Amino acid sequence: METLYITHPSCRLHDMGDWHPECPGRLDAINDQLVASGIMSFLDEAQARAATDADLLRVHTAAHIDYLRSHAPSENHFAIDADTLMGPHTLEAALGAAGAGLTAVDAIMAGVHTNAFCAVRPPGHHAGPAQAMGFCFFNNVAIAAAYALEKYNLQRVAIIDFDVHHGNGTEDIFAGDPRVLMCSFFQQTLFPWSYQDPSAENMVNIPVDAYTRGPDLRMVVSDIWMPRLYDFQPEFVFISAGFDGHREDGMGQLGLVEADFAWITDQIVALAQKTASGRLVSFLEGGYNLSALGRSAVAHIRALAAV
Ligand SMILES: [Zn+2]
Repeated sequence: METLYITHPSCRLHDMGDWHPECPGRLDAINDQLVASGIMSFLDEAQARAATDADLLRVHTAAHIDYLRSHAPSENHFAIDADTLMGPHTLEAALGAAGAGLTAVDAIMAGVHTNAFCAVRPPGHHAGPAQAMGFCFFNNVAIAAAYALEKYNLQRVAIIDFDVHHGNGTEDIFAGDPRVLMCSFFQQTLFPWSYQDPSAENMVNIPVDAYTRGPDLRMVVSDIWMPRLYDFQPEFVFISAGFDGHREDGMGQLGLVEADFAWITDQIVALAQKTASGRLVSFLEGGYNLSALGRSAVAHIRALAAV
């Protein structure tokens, strides 16, 4: 039982409205496909602990945390922007989503598990130090990376982001931090329209055109990401796993399919095994076509668990 599957009950309750693509059914889609595939029996399951203020403050400002706490509604919604809304369960879900990575890091550093998938929402990679946006409130992957660096005194961690959208929040948090190497590709001229050029030496951003397909994106991974990652020798590897680059997902126009997500994951697992004793935590980010999301997440988790 090497791979841990982590979620939090509140993640299913966070609801931004019936019209919203970032919906509770996303977690059901993943869970249903995992059960149907038979893979669930190869995973250990755990419930996330809630992130504390001390955990959040490693990457977020106190003002940001206070803002979300003070605007959390007891009924209906509070709109931070047109498509980032807080409901009665949002704060608890966001704390659980952020805490999932911390539960995962602890379990992996204790040697109980090798890697983990955090089936959480809200997602995190658009959340900056002082800003919620793009369906994201707290930056789950950044909170976990900062925790691993501080609590376990690590020197180098890698963050790999294959969501169709750029992880602008993660870049804002770690740009210029020599302890972190972030590698990503993303569709250009798409939300959040940020960082076509990397903002710092430790950011490997590869914007790609709409309709770029799997073979070209695999070349980005093998020819651009991997040389930098192997050179960096990360001691822990984190993934922002967005599946909205799937060709059936209408949120973007990339041409990835399940086999591409599996192949990319295989490359990252091999990296982690070479430089980080296999230590890896992956977070659900985007993915809005429920069928493609479920199938892609299963392909990803199957590669993590090597089953
Ligand atoms: Zn996305």
